[in-house]
Amino acid sequence: MIGSRTSRRRFIVGSGAALATAAVGSVFSQGAWARADDPPKKLGFAIVGIGRLSINQILPAFERCKHAKLAALVSGDADKAKKFASQYNLDEKHIYSYANFENLAHDDSVDVIYIVLPNGLHAEYTVRAAKCGKHVFCEKPMANTVDECKQMIDACNAAKVKLGIGYRMQYEPYTQALVEMCRKQVQGKTRLISADHGFNIGGGTWRTNAKLAGGGPLMDVGIYCLNAARYLMGAEPVEVTAQMDQPRDDPRFNEVEASMVFTLKFPNGALACCSTTYDSAGGSRLRIMNEGGDIFLEPAFSYGAPKMWIRERGQMKQAVYPAVDQFANEMDEFSRELMENKPILTPGEEGLADVRVMQALYAAAREGKAVKFA
Ligand code: NAD
Repeated sequence: MIGSRTSRRRFIVGSGAALATAAVGSVFSQGAWARADDPPKKLGFAIVGIGRLSINQILPAFERCKHAKLAALVSGDADKAKKFASQYNLDEKHIYSYANFENLAHDDSVDVIYIVLPNGLHAEYTVRAAKCGKHVFCEKPMANTVDECKQMIDACNAAKVKLGIGYRMQYEPYTQALVEMCRKQVQGKTRLISADHGFNIGGGTWRTNAKLAGGGPLMDVGIYCLNAARYLMGAEPVEVTAQMDQPRDDPRFNEVEASMVFTLKFPNGALACCSTTYDSAGGSRLRIMNEGGDIFLEPAFSYGAPKMWIRERGQMKQAVYPAVDQFANEMDEFSRELMENKPILTPGEEGLADVRVMQALYAAAREGKAVKFA
């Protein structure tokens, strides 16, 4: 699944010239950034949960979508839903609550239900959405446990609807270029990956509630490091280790870790070394160390375009690809996959693979020993 869409790329820094700096401005292109043969239809999305991600990223992104449009809002706060319905010209008849969620089944304007709720609610709402007979797009992490992920996949299969997980990075140009460079071994084999992602969290958020979040920074932002290591290697780790810190004197971390460092070992011996935190001004970085050079990104996982440098024979050069609205881009791509009946780039199985590793990382940290996968 990973890296299966290389033909859709428009390289500003192409593979042959991959080590040259491209003097191209940052064009904020529309969501679907790669093709002239785009189908004209837009699928209708019901957005479930009007929190920060929905308000600041997803709802504004529809303006830049070519294949997705806002079709419904689901919220526990009717006034908030009315306010955003008015702002985005959505008829109030398409506002739903968590109690009457099942009425989405009868809303013909809705093709996809997009779950943007705390992690601990993803499984329940994905299953309910599938039972409405609608396709489901669910934010990362897919769920708190592997069992929940399996329930979500089973429910979507039973309802004959598709499930996609919101791994926005996998749809964006820099990441797709990196995956291609690693697959084609442009700098030889990848031997080491280092990645980190974190931020300083405030108090009073579901993100530090174990039941709603499933864990701490690993589940929230460390997942980007893990997912990157997996898509860059195109393989699943065979062994993992982890250490975590949970300071007892900081009420933010009564239930979840404050920080974690972890390692992944891949079948060919390549290693990834990652860290994630809720306890320091963090940011995100990614470094891919190959036999003949290395590639460095900072920021690596933010909403804006990454900044990327490629080093070979001691020379460091910046590579530039098109900047996209990552949320418009992933909704467009998911819509196109549905309309063209193509495989989903980031299906439930992809989300499950990360959750499986994250559960192993927590076990490794708790037990103080490596966890090997059979
Ligand atoms: P948020 O706290 O800002 O919003 C959560 C929403 O869920 C709120 O509208 C809240 O009212 C609602 N909600 C419903 N039931 C709730 C309950 N029992 N407890 C708490 N809130 C409840 O969170 P967010 O930052 O919008 O994150 C939502 C999801 O999106 C999470 O799964 C998160 O991991 C994911 N996320 C993804 C990205 C990304 O880049 N892909 C970025 C941020 C968040």
